[in-house]
Amino acid sequence: MKNRDIRWILIIAAFAIAGLILMQVNFINKAFELNANQFNDKVSLALITVAEQVNKNKRDSTSSIEAVEQVTEDYFTVNVNDTVNHRFLENLLHLEFSKYGVEADYQYVIYDCFADSIIWKGYSNKPGEEDLFTVNRSLPSYVLPKDSHKIGVYFPGKKQYILSQMNVFVFSGIGLFVIICFFVYILYIILKQKKLSEIKSDFINNMTHEFKTPISTINLSADALGKPGIEKNPERISRYAQIIKDEGLRLRNHVDKILEIAVLDADTPKFKSEPVDMHEQINKAVEIIRIKIEERNGKLETNIHAEYTVVKGDADHLSNILLNLLGNALKYTEKEPHIRINTKNEGKYMVISISDNGIGIPKKYKKYIFNKFYRVSTGNVHNVKGFGLGLYYVNKIVKSHGGSITVESEPNKGSTFSIKLPVIK
Ligand code: ADP
Repeated sequence: MKNRDIRWILIIAAFAIAGLILMQVNFINKAFELNANQFNDKVSLALITVAEQVNKNKRDSTSSIEAVEQVTEDYFTVNVNDTVNHRFLENLLHLEFSKYGVEADYQYVIYDCFADSIIWKGYSNKPGEEDLFTVNRSLPSYVLPKDSHKIGVYFPGKKQYILSQMNVFVFSGIGLFVIICFFVYILYIILKQKKLSEIKSDFINNMTHEFKTPISTINLSADALGKPGIEKNPERISRYAQIIKDEGLRLRNHVDKILEIAVLDADTPKFKSEPVDMHEQINKAVEIIRIKIEERNGKLETNIHAEYTVVKGDADHLSNILLNLLGNALKYTEKEPHIRINTKNEGKYMVISISDNGIGIPKKYKKYIFNKFYRVSTGNVHNVKGFGLGLYYVNKIVKSHGGSITVESEPNKGSTFSIKLPVIK
């Protein structure tokens, strides 16, 4: 998938998710409004019946419908003709609210206009909740004409009650949330797969190059050796033979590297477990790498300070990791290489540090360099060929020996790779 396609998918997905969330919020708002209106209607109908009951048989009967007024979202009043018996009112409210399916808790007051005060405060069912009733909630003055009595009914938990009636929307909200999480997860997988396929195609390009170059050099040398008259020039024959040998060795190294990883990635990689003197392994590796360093007028310094140097593990792999780190130190140094190997003991561990004065690794890439196939993809580094497998291999081997690896690096100054391995004392 192309980068542009991915960008479009991300933009469309972001819009789709935002749209879904907006729709759901709007949907819930509308549903809340609808439920609140239904609630108000039910309360009003119940209170109209209450007004009818309370005002019946009175001379000066007001219209029951007009008697009921919704003052605020959660506060209703009923005009009555005379003071009302509180027990009668309590039963009536209970009966009518049950009849209309109003199950929310409420509080009520009876206001007497002659005394100009609240003469009774009552609660729907739970006397323990008396505190809920704020006396400030008594009737506001503008709804208190001097010549009338009023009943006030207040629903302190109206909002919560309506929300509790909307369970289905809560579930649909949770469903939507799960779908969005799933969606985001799929996008994450797509991006991850894309990165992986880029890494793989980089690896294939590198591999093609790494294999093609020695093969064509071998072909050219073989052609040269096949030319008539070459037998008269033994010096050239031996030069071409040496080239073929060197390139053959290079090919073998590449194959070995890929096979090593295949072994490492097997479900149960098999390692020997024998005492290995790391100073001995360092000396062997130094012998191999020294010639290459000297060829480039570089120098190699070893500071051997570790007293305990025997590690339990696989000598071949332990030697390979040193060769890998030393090879990288050389490979990623453009000027005359100055490579230092230090060893020391730290508790039950031996620390081997390999430092170079090379191109270094920018901070933001440091955490990726131990990943399989990862190569720092900046300017000059591309000139140096590789598979991005070396440090992955080193890290795996060090870890399987109970150790750890760290890197300190500064671009254009150099890098220090330190491996810490448990020693046998
Ligand atoms: P390869 O060398 O085949 O690319 P490695 O796994 O050995 O793969 O290294 C991964 C990346 O880490 C390299 O591409 C390189 O950018 C960086 N790197 C490794 N060692 C050094 C070093 N000594 N100095 C600078 N960069 C390094």
